[in-house]
Amino acid sequence: FTGKTGSELLTEQIKKFKVQQYQHVPIVVKESVSVYDAISTMFLEDVGTLFVVDEQSCLTGVLSRKDLLRASIGQQDLNAIPVHIIMTRMPNITVCRKEDLLIDVAMKLMNKQIDGIPVVRDVDAGLEVIGRITKTTITKVFVELITNDQV
Ligand code: ADP
Repeated sequence: FTGKTGSELLTEQIKKFKVQQYQHVPIVVKESVSVYDAISTMFLEDVGTLFVVDEQSCLTGVLSRKDLLRASIGQQDLNAIPVHIIMTRMPNITVCRKEDLLIDVAMKLMNKQIDGIPVVRDVDAGLEVIGRITKTTITKVFVELITNDQV
């Protein structure tokens, strides 16, 4: 008997969760696609954040729902604006890696007040996007922890 309370054991368990175990498939678009096509992709793929990549498939930017809304207000032709004009760009992108602790990524989501973080891998040309962690990921883990505990 360790003398640890249930909540201490639960905390220890949560602190071991790694990104790799919980990451989802990332939805990416090329820098050259139009704002119109990015909006279509966001609806079709049912995500709130798109990651933007260059010709070598390396991360160059992020597009949120509000980035696309902002670009849409008062614009005549959304087909004529490429997403690289409006995206948040590198090096100002918050990223994580598959071996990172989920709790650290959850803290980044909170502290930076963003909805999603790309999981990246270092390659010669830059950072390859291999996954995503979002607020939904964290919500699912939270619910699973509680419901698994009850049965
Ligand atoms: P929204 O703006 O639609 O509510 P977010 O809160 O995720 O969605 O995004 C807020 C701003 O932060 C947007 O301009 C977006 O481009 C940017 N952003 C989103 N995710 C990241 C990230 N991982 N790293 C850096 N900036 C990001």
